[in-house]
Amino acid sequence: MKPFDLNGRVAVITGGNAGIGLGIAKGLAAAGAAIVIAGRRREKNLEAARTIESLNVSTAALEVDVCNEESCRAMIESTVKRFGRIDILVNNAGTTIRKQPETYTLAEWNRVIDTNLNGAFLCAQAAYPHMKNGGGGKMVNIGSMLSIFGASFAAAYAASKGGIVQMTKALACAWAKDNIQVNAILPGWIDTPLTQSARKEVPGLNERVLARTPAGRWGEPQDLAGVAVFLASSASDFITGAAIPVDGGYSSQV
Ligand code: NDP
Repeated sequence: MKPFDLNGRVAVITGGNAGIGLGIAKGLAAAGAAIVIAGRRREKNLEAARTIESLNVSTAALEVDVCNEESCRAMIESTVKRFGRIDILVNNAGTTIRKQPETYTLAEWNRVIDTNLNGAFLCAQAAYPHMKNGGGGKMVNIGSMLSIFGASFAAAYAASKGGIVQMTKALACAWAKDNIQVNAILPGWIDTPLTQSARKEVPGLNERVLARTPAGRWGEPQDLAGVAVFLASSASDFITGAAIPVDGGYSSQV
């Protein structure tokens, strides 16, 4: 098999109907993988699946709420029923609530942790037995610059994304024996619906991002496609537990 070839592979991308998830889905499809787009909004899922289908790969759209354990399990079971296997899981679904830490309710805190961290764990746990029985697999978890840095307006988000990196390492150690590689991508500032709202809510953010990013621009969702193909393919078979920044140099600059 060619190192970056994903023909015959089946990939589930949570939050694949928009932003970074859709950018990754397009990249995996271009490398030949069958794609399952999974998000809460049915219409957005179907629209994204139609876009992916135009790349001539098998595609399915599934509704999932990653905060719900049953829903995560059903998503994986439906995938295996439809395609007979799951080789790649991209835990990308994410959210944030921007406010000062002293003003969070517990429900708000939990909503962010449930979506970003617990959801990724539940999907990984549901996919594990199928990957193990299939002889191996690839899990790709989406962290953030806030896996490394703090921000006054993002306590819950930073806690969840820091947790993603440590969970990635732990799953990598546990499941290496099953030929399952678990890695994380840490995107820098990427232009998506999530950050379009941040630009409106956080004064001066756009200028700060541009000043600190050596590449001198915001990232685009397709900037994540190459690293996702790498981590989903046999090219990365001896890489596990890693967290790779894709940030135009943001995390290298003081
Ligand atoms: P978007 O807001 O554009 O997309 C978020 C996606 O997650 C949507 O597809 C949404 O679909 C899905 N989603 C949200 N909640 C749930 C849920 N409970 N169950 C299932 N799906 C859900 O965000 P981005 O594309 O910007 O972000 C994608 C990931 O990348 C997130 O994990 C984010 O934290 C991370 N990230 C983003 C950065 C950026 O600069 N944009 C930087 C670093 C990390 P639906 O609403 O239909 O469920």
